Amino acid sequence: MGKAGTTGAVSAPRGLDVLRDPVLNRGTAFSEAERDALGLRGLLPPHVHTQAEQAERFLVTFRKLADPLDKFIALNALHDRNEDLFFSILVDHIDEMQPIVYTPIVGLACQKFGQIFQRPRGMFISIRDRGNIAKVLRNWPYQAGIIVVTDGERILGLGDLGAHGMGIPVGKLSLYTACAGIHPTQCLPVTLDVGCNNDAVRNDPFYVGLRQKRVTGAEYDAFIEEFVSAAQEVFPGVVIQWEDFANHNAFRLLENYRDRVSSFNDDIQGTAAVALAGIFSALRITGQPLTDQRVLFLGAGEAATGIADLIASAMVAQGVALDQARRSCWLVDSKGLVVKSRKDLAHHKLNYAHDHPPVADFLDAVRKLKPTAIIGVSAVGGTFTREIIEEMAKLNERPIIFALSNPTSQSECTAEEAYRWSGGRALFACGSPFDPVTVHGQTFVPRQGNNSYIFPGIGLGAIACKAKVITDDMFMKSAHTLAQLVTESDLAQGSLYPALPRIREVSAYIAAAIANAAKESGIAGRLAKQEMLKDIEAQMYDPHQK
Ligand code: NAD
Repeated sequence: MGKAGTTGAVSAPRGLDVLRDPVLNRGTAFSEAERDALGLRGLLPPHVHTQAEQAERFLVTFRKLADPLDKFIALNALHDRNEDLFFSILVDHIDEMQPIVYTPIVGLACQKFGQIFQRPRGMFISIRDRGNIAKVLRNWPYQAGIIVVTDGERILGLGDLGAHGMGIPVGKLSLYTACAGIHPTQCLPVTLDVGCNNDAVRNDPFYVGLRQKRVTGAEYDAFIEEFVSAAQEVFPGVVIQWEDFANHNAFRLLENYRDRVSSFNDDIQGTAAVALAGIFSALRITGQPLTDQRVLFLGAGEAATGIADLIASAMVAQGVALDQARRSCWLVDSKGLVVKSRKDLAHHKLNYAHDHPPVADFLDAVRKLKPTAIIGVSAVGGTFTREIIEEMAKLNERPIIFALSNPTSQSECTAEEAYRWSGGRALFACGSPFDPVTVHGQTFVPRQGNNSYIFPGIGLGAIACKAKVITDDMFMKSAHTLAQLVTESDLAQGSLYPALPRIREVSAYIAAAIANAAKESGIAGRLAKQEMLKDIEAQMYDPHQK
């Protein structure tokens, strides 16, 4: 992979420089010939291990760790030592590793970020770097293909963690590599540090960010504008994924930049695609048409309105008028049902503010609106109570119940609760991982409605075809592609998504769908050299050493 800003001959790293560079280091797996060529003789113990043996060695110690945060620290340290080994372990044990490097444990790691900090990863660009952002970005030694950027204001369901939110872009980009084979050096995690309004975080002696309140308004917008322009200048065509911005910035930033640069907001658009795919799977079980669904959301933020928009678009594609399609989706926020008469509604909720008398709580809304599906994206744990799930099971033979909030503590209900309280009839998906549940002798295998099924493929596709922008149609196509990969045997055990170990296959198919969509709409900057899927697969990084 090319290094940014390098000119002329640069001598190749040797000896300790190789062993200390996680991109180059293979530790005891360096062959005899490599040891000679790279000046490693004597710097390594003499026995040459295979990468598989190194992985075994790591896993023996790793699996003895009881505390998930210790597991996170161990994986992080491996990431800092030997990237090929780290990613080979992620790829081969994705079911076991994804919950550690990403949700839910990454949430805990962000909360403890200052305490467990060892080495920096990615780039911290602070408001003090204004006027110099391009120069700062040139300190990154590689040519970035994708940036995941956060300002740390709404980290998962945990609120403002400031610069400690960096765990999320780092974790997410690990999944771009593990799940979609985007080369690690193409992945750049960025935290924009504009301050932090969470006193407890900011006053923590271990806090790594600026000790000031958040900059807002025109100054904030100018900072973001400089960042986007600088990123495009230093890494031309780089894909920008907005991550965990608070509502008041997330929608605006998405709208401001979506037609200017290759960019998307995963919390809004990626979540929408994964949820819609889950609904498509659920409807394969019930046999009902999408156009007959009434969907009630608990939560009215980025995830809820993103999902509602994509459901409405899918209904429109099936011949329903947009107004009517939107009336199939209802939102409940912390103040009750979102209805037209309310005067306190933020702009992003207005499309779903329908004519209806006020309703104060979710159970009441379920009784009055009789939804076929409830989707929890409120970030408030335990809010799908027994009464709510029993009511859904009274209203529907197979109620669709998605508890998508992260981390696990914020999940609206557990898998056990959804299946047990519905008498085993719930069509369930969750944001956090849950174990299989047996009810009335039948075992259900809940799978995560996690946007990690979507964003790696979107990123891979956008990079592969050099998409000039990322369109809504691409998310619709990803939802269809993901749903098509769910097998009959998945559905028979209540799984609405493919098994996670198939994730690289899923990502390749999604990437091919994205690249085909870009080609059809004339926004691809590069065309495939062969059949699209083969072209995509040929570009995927494989961390395994043969
Ligand atoms: P957000 O802050 O934009 O929205 C949260 C919404 O919940 C707000 O509208 C808020 O008014 C509402 N809310 C808060 N308390 C409530 C209550 N007691 N009753 C009803 N509504 C309440 O956040 P978001 O981006 O929409 O994310 C919400 C949750 O979904 C988070 O936990 C996030 O981690 C999770 N999420 C999961 C996935 C996934 O892949 N499973 C993807 C995106 C987001």
